[in-house]
Amino acid sequence: MAKRLEGKTILITGASSGIGKSTAKEFARTSPKNLKLILTARRIDTLKEVAAEISAEVGDGVQVLPVKLDVSNPEEIKNFVPSLPEEFKDIDVLVNNAGLVKGVAQAPNIETEDINVMFNTNVTGLIHMTQAILPIFKSRSEGGRGDIINIGSIAGREPYPGGGIYCATKAAVRSFTDSLRRELIATRIRVIEIDPGQVETEFSVVRFYGDKSKADAVYKGVEPLTGDDIAEVVVFAAGRRENVVIADTLIYPSHQA
Ligand code: NDP
Repeated sequence: MAKRLEGKTILITGASSGIGKSTAKEFARTSPKNLKLILTARRIDTLKEVAAEISAEVGDGVQVLPVKLDVSNPEEIKNFVPSLPEEFKDIDVLVNNAGLVKGVAQAPNIETEDINVMFNTNVTGLIHMTQAILPIFKSRSEGGRGDIINIGSIAGREPYPGGGIYCATKAAVRSFTDSLRRELIATRIRVIEIDPGQVETEFSVVRFYGDKSKADAVYKGVEPLTGDDIAEVVVFAAGRRENVVIADTLIYPSHQA
C-alpha cells in the first residue's frame, strides 16, 4: 500500500482535530518516504502543531503544508488552489472531512443560524472543495484520476430525533457523493464515502457550544470509535489498486451496530 501512496499529494479538510488529524498522521505513517500533506482548517495554530507532531514522528520524508481555510467561505475556496505553492498543486487525494453539528433541537426549535452553519460547512463547503479540486483530477489522462473521499455519517442513514438538520446535511453528502461517482464513471477518479458511527473527538464539544461536561456525557458508559479507527479505513481506501473503488463504507462501534 505504501508504494501506491508514494509521491502523492493529499489534501485534508478539518485536519486540526479528530478524524482529520488522525487521517493526516495515518497517511504519514503509512507512506513516510515521499508524501505531501496539505492540512486545512480554520485554526491555523493548531494545524501548525499537527504538522510539527507529524514531522517529529516520521521525519522530513513527508512535507506538510498547513493552510488556514474556512470551507464555508466560497471566496477562500476560490483562492485556495491558486495560492498554493507550485510543488503542492498537483493534488491526488481530497479528503472532505471538515464538518460539525450544532445544537440538539426538535424541529420547532431549530435556530436558523445553526441550520445555516451546518449546511454551509457540511454540504456547500464539501461541494465547493470538490469543485475546486476536480479540474486538477480531470486534467490527467484517461478522463482523469484522483480520489475524492467524503466523510459522511451514520446520521445520513439513520436519522435521530433532535438531529434533523445534521442528519439532513449528511444525507445530502451521501446523495451528492453517489451522483458524482456516477458522473465520473468513465474516468479513473474514485469517489468514496466513509460513514462513521460514534467517534470520540471534539465533535460533541462543538455540538454543545463548548460545554465539555455535556460532551463527555455523550460517551459515558459506551466505547466509541477513535479518530484512528476511521483514519485507517480512509488510508486503506486511498491505497487500493487504481481499479478498485471502496465506494461506500459504514463503520460502527460495536455498541451501536
Ligand atoms: P472534530 O470537531 O474533532 O473535527 C472537525 C474538524 O472540522 C476540525 O478540524 C475543524 O477545524 C473542522 N471544521 C469545522 N468547521 C470548519 C470550517 N467551516 N472550515 C474548515 N474546517 C472546519 O470532529 P470529527 O473529527 O469527529 O469530525 C470530522 C468529520 O466526521 C465531520 O464531517 C463529522 O460530521 C464526521 N463524523 C463525526 C462523527 C463523530 O461521532 N465524531 C460521526 C460521524 C461523522 P477548525 O475548528 O480548526 O476549523
